[in-house]
Amino acid sequence: MSLSKISTLSFVLLFLLSFRPLAQNLTEIKRYKVNFELATNASEKLIVTRSFTNNKQKYLLLTNPETLYTKVDLASNYTLTSLDYSNVLAIFKNSVYVKALDAASARSTQLQNAGIDHAIPDEKGIVLTIDLCPSHKPLDRIIFQSVFDEFIKTEKPAPLAVSVSGKWMLKHPDDLNWLKSLVEKRALNITWINHTYNHEVNNLPLVENFLLAPGTNLDVEVLENEKLMLKNGLIPSVFFRFPGLVSDKTIVQKIEAYGLIPIDSDAWLAKGQQPNAGSIVLIHGNGNEEIGVKDFIRLLKTKQANVKNKQWLLFDLRQGLEKEFE
Ligand SMILES: [Zn+2]
Repeated sequence: MSLSKISTLSFVLLFLLSFRPLAQNLTEIKRYKVNFELATNASEKLIVTRSFTNNKQKYLLLTNPETLYTKVDLASNYTLTSLDYSNVLAIFKNSVYVKALDAASARSTQLQNAGIDHAIPDEKGIVLTIDLCPSHKPLDRIIFQSVFDEFIKTEKPAPLAVSVSGKWMLKHPDDLNWLKSLVEKRALNITWINHTYNHEVNNLPLVENFLLAPGTNLDVEVLENEKLMLKNGLIPSVFFRFPGLVSDKTIVQKIEAYGLIPIDSDAWLAKGQQPNAGSIVLIHGNGNEEIGVKDFIRLLKTKQANVKNKQWLLFDLRQGLEKEFE
């Protein structure tokens, strides 16, 4: 049997062993709501953040408070205890999840750059986050292709995080399917971040712009975007990225009350911010940030030798934060 056949077979086996309802089938979502519960079974103790029905079956969106991994599963697979958000904070106060929420809210008073902007201290490498704000231009596929080409020998699938807005998903189904195909081929491992449904941007000062714009409906921005992600086969992570990286203390608290951890960036490349060890790097992949994309390709080139020697890695955001807060 050829190597590739063996690896295909073991992949299929792995898939069967870890069988869970596929998000691809969630096209009839109803009664989608914020719902905090403790979910336990023989081997897991998870936090429910959302519940919904699909084809008359009840589903949960679950977070592992130690690894920050999320999944969708049937409610019938768990014993459930109802909680409210303050219970979650108290019961899991020593978990990676609540420590990360605390760290994000500690920076919530700033108008820009609230949330966690750095992961994995003292490690050689970065966390890459790519924002897909609404855009008429096609996806900058070169970013993803370059990551794959550079890391194919050292990290396959290469981890990165993509922040998706609803309006981007609606306008770019082919690009979204292309990204999903890279995940299916195990070329990339994508953490999907909620970047709001409408991603409002106007000409007003920052205090009235983006999510702070008058008339913003947070339930639409957060929950409708998650529903659209699920409909498109994306499992929403426990993370949230503020449009424009703009927020205030009140809105950070409101976003955290949805159970979401705001993720900032300390290296927005197009703004000239240089990444250092453990940086959460931000580039826009929606065709509107040529400079950022060029800077990133240049960065990859300068790190080429280090990538080969595994002295410069891409880190999974969830694993980076686990390491930082465990
Ligand atoms: Zn954006």
